[in-house]
Amino acid sequence: MKPDAPYPHLLAPLDLGFTQLRNRVLMGSMHTGLEDIPDSHARLAAFYAERAAGGVALIVTGGFMPNAHCLPPGETPAYRQPDAIAGHRLITDAVHREGAKICLQILHTGRYAHSENLIAPSALQAPINRFVPAEATDTQILQQIEDFGDFASFCQQAGYDGVEVMGSEGYFINEFIAPRTNRREDRWGGSFDNRCRLALAIVRRIRERVGEKFIIIFRLSMLDLVEGGSTFDETVALGKALAEAGVTLINTGIGWHESQIPTIATKVPRAAFTWVSARFRAQLPVPVITSNRINSPDVAEALLALGDADMVSMARPFLADPRFVAKAAAGQSDSINTCIACNQACLDHIFNGRLTSCLVNPRACHELELISDPATQVRRIAVVGAGPAGLAFATTAAERGHRVTLFDQATEIGGQFNLAKRIPGKEEFAETLRYFNNRLQHLKVDVRLGARVDTAMLESGDFDLAIIATGITPRMPAIPGITHRSVVSYVDVVSGKVTAGQRIAIIGAGGIGFDVAEFLSHGTEMPSRDIPEFMREWGVDMSLQARGGVEGMTPLTPPSPRQITLLQRKPGKPGSTLGKTTGWIHRLGLVKKRVEMLAGCDYQRIDDDGLHVVVQGVPRVLAVDHIVICAGQEPLRELAQGLRLPCHVIGGAHEATELDAKRAIDEATRLALAI
Ligand code: FAD
Ligand code: NAP
Ligand code: SF4
Repeated sequence: MKPDAPYPHLLAPLDLGFTQLRNRVLMGSMHTGLEDIPDSHARLAAFYAERAAGGVALIVTGGFMPNAHCLPPGETPAYRQPDAIAGHRLITDAVHREGAKICLQILHTGRYAHSENLIAPSALQAPINRFVPAEATDTQILQQIEDFGDFASFCQQAGYDGVEVMGSEGYFINEFIAPRTNRREDRWGGSFDNRCRLALAIVRRIRERVGEKFIIIFRLSMLDLVEGGSTFDETVALGKALAEAGVTLINTGIGWHESQIPTIATKVPRAAFTWVSARFRAQLPVPVITSNRINSPDVAEALLALGDADMVSMARPFLADPRFVAKAAAGQSDSINTCIACNQACLDHIFNGRLTSCLVNPRACHELELISDPATQVRRIAVVGAGPAGLAFATTAAERGHRVTLFDQATEIGGQFNLAKRIPGKEEFAETLRYFNNRLQHLKVDVRLGARVDTAMLESGDFDLAIIATGITPRMPAIPGITHRSVVSYVDVVSGKVTAGQRIAIIGAGGIGFDVAEFLSHGTEMPSRDIPEFMREWGVDMSLQARGGVEGMTPLTPPSPRQITLLQRKPGKPGSTLGKTTGWIHRLGLVKKRVEMLAGCDYQRIDDDGLHVVVQGVPRVLAVDHIVICAGQEPLRELAQGLRLPCHVIGGAHEATELDAKRAIDEATRLALAI
């Protein structure tokens, strides 16, 4: 590598003795849902091959289950099916053709299994699972070890370069290690040595089955983030024993699934947990991989240069941009489509039983279906509105060769994303606008800002087609007194046009109501992205003395400068429409800020005394300075009415109900690929 090459640490090869990795980038394990559908191997091969072609050194597949204890009754693990080797060969060959290596993750789900067959070290139900595990017998434990060995041997035959043993996030192996879930008194429980016996036996058995020239990664829970987790000293001791038992690399796991501390959401500062890997690595004889909220080559390079780790694991960033590494290597980091850590199309999909994709890149996991071919007939297209829908359409259509003019009445591109990026914890949304700006320039899209478009403009222009992506207008509910001076729209509050007073009522507890509450419960400054401050706020012990990193710690949340009440009409828990994997973080954050949440509200009127409301049958007057309306949105599509030019209406302009950027971008991309 030349000394002036970009990212010298990130792009340096890593010598593992029996094999070499071409750089320090590992694509972390993600269950995509493709594993479970017909034709899964061909689609997975296309998905992984695209990431391999984009420069990643080592891919870890989503987790595959080693045996029936992880599966619903009657199901057998996929690798025991007759044609399994041939299927997996499609994947491994496709990745190897692109010069990368690939390991399969073996995931024993233990007490998190959605199965009546589940087993665990002790019969303790997980707070996030309705099934109660049976305590594994000694014979069953020995069988689990054999199953890991069998599966690893299968992987070797199927062309994998290695396996990753999932030993973190509160799954089976982790459950044995931690006193929280291991109450046994036999040779598999009690003392620290006994609790680690399973992890070490699995690694030794795999090594016996696969020989020396096969990668074994152990994903070790370096910080459990639950009471009754391991101490850091225990984790280091286990790491050393794992190295002796034959692991090649140790990967960082942070937090159990049942932990109440965010570890990968947008709110988490970038590289927030690398300090843990760094402390661990200093004492270990094998290379250590760090992870969690690393989404830019600059951040990855900086932490490798500091010596915090030997490799960097990124997972969601490769959904957002398969060419992340290639772009970094070419000095084009500005053109990377950055993962904004929203979880909306990846983890939320998986937890809702849907295929993984990506909000900013709908092609992720749809590689064989969403193909950007050159257009057969080049058209002159006017796109009105440079919000997420207009941007995705304009760039995709231009990429295919269409001649695109993009209009927006605002002086900057982005539409509502310019509000979203002002919400504390959503700063990453600005990266999407940086990406689109770069893309528009590169594709030479004719961008006209400060240009309010009307029908006459479109009809008199030299266009074959118009795309109406004009978005929405905020809904103003018909409450008596809605024109009172205390009533303001979320747009005016978040844009800074109105400075909100001390006492606030927010009407509407959807995504925007929650975001406005977050915005107003902070001071005038954006909160710091300081890692120690984040750890203090969530009660994580950076001295690494507390068991699990949290036991006995008191979270210290800075108080809200305002008294805020968030209201909705429907009964039930406010925030139920928020993302499955992030909603709890938003709710918990506001509870910590003492935001009052009221459901079952009937709005009576607004006057000088404030907001008159009946809450579950009980009248109340909220004496407030401002009432912020976040009551949903209506489509803005007048331009399409009577337009004498072929047109399509997309994004919020098409349908405002339950609109989010994921749908806007997906809809726009699919249309642009079809035109
Ligand atoms: P818009 O973003 O509304 O863009 C429409 C554009 O059209 C605007 O730029 C407007 O200026 C322009 N325009 C309108 N009329 C004309 C005209 N006549 N001539 C020229 N230009 C015109 N979504 C998520 O998925 N996740 C989130 O976490 C999230 N957070 C949000 C937080 C906030 C505070 C807000 C306000 C929204 C958030 N959203 C989020 C919603 C998301 O931003 C919208 O769903 C998305 O922006 C809709 O895209 P769009 O392109 O359809 O419309
Ligand atoms: P929303 O999620 O549909 O919420 C609208 C809220 O207004 C609801 O709480 C609704 O609850 C209330 N409401 C609707 N009509 C009303 C009326 N006539 N009078 C009084 N209250 C009324 O819409 P949004 O908050 O405007 O968000 C827009 C979109 O942006 C959402 O679809 C969301 O997906 C997306 N977004 C997502 C996120 C995220 O974190 N993923 C964040 C922000 C925005 P009641 O009817 O019960 O009162
Ligand atoms: Fe990242 Fe959001 Fe895409 Fe998931 S959906 S990969 S979190 S940008």
